[in-house]
Amino acid sequence: MNLADAMARAVEASAAVLGTTSPNPPVGCVVLDASGEPVGVGATRPPGGPHAEVVALREAGDRAVGGTAVVTLEPCAHHGRTPPCTDALLAAGVRRVVHAVSDPNPTAAGGADVLRAAGVEVESGFLAEVVGDGPLRAWLHFARTGRPHVTWYASDDAEKDEHIARADAIVSGMRTAPSSGTPGPYRPLRVDVGHPAHAHDVDAALAGRDVVDVVLVGGPTLAGAFAAAGRLDRVLAHLAPELLGDGRLVLSGTGVATAAGTVGPDAVGLVVERVTMSGPGLRVSAVPVR
Ligand SMILES: [Zn+2]
Repeated sequence: MNLADAMARAVEASAAVLGTTSPNPPVGCVVLDASGEPVGVGATRPPGGPHAEVVALREAGDRAVGGTAVVTLEPCAHHGRTPPCTDALLAAGVRRVVHAVSDPNPTAAGGADVLRAAGVEVESGFLAEVVGDGPLRAWLHFARTGRPHVTWYASDDAEKDEHIARADAIVSGMRTAPSSGTPGPYRPLRVDVGHPAHAHDVDAALAGRDVVDVVLVGGPTLAGAFAAAGRLDRVLAHLAPELLGDGRLVLSGTGVATAAGTVGPDAVGLVVERVTMSGPGLRVSAVPVR
């Protein structure tokens, strides 16, 4: 298995544990044996449980000796609730570690250097941009800014439903229910800011609750309020091409008001950061202009 395929499998493993790891990162790891065959796959277990590297190394057993560990995030080098993954990798006898994103958390960073110093071949930053936009995205934002990552969907689709189910918190702007619950696997914290204008209160509502990944479930007014408060981090939409009766070609998505809609005074300027093919149309990821 080549390294790109191994990394894709590691990302896939980490996507499966999204919503169960906060405040820890959802990491994926694939261990290849000395001949390049995958012999272990792991992802972060819930807080207090083993990290992805340890799960994958346990599955690999002796076959990890002389092999390669492919990880979505730089292995940790610190004693948190579990021993450092660098220790586990060294004890397992892997020859090489290939990781995507470097750990932005100063406490946990330095794993690559520890491994290099111990004679392990380390490749840092492998496919980091793509991997960093995947399951790790919200955690990376949280680690870099200290604030939860906030996503709003401009179209109703399966990705939105799945994200809502696995988010740490969902935030609405019409007081329909009191803020309640604790975040946990598939039990998102529900927060109601009461009025869109209270978007900047949201940090207080989420503080100390291990919330990393937030989805806004309100309409465009709520999204606009979050954008105005500088707290909107991503807008996602799935758009499909449609040929209108008058011959105009438009890109529209279910729930998008109108492709030819007027731009009002409250319009939020966005910059497209990524466009990918999705079913019959496009998945557009955009970020507000700061
Ligand atoms: Zn670790």
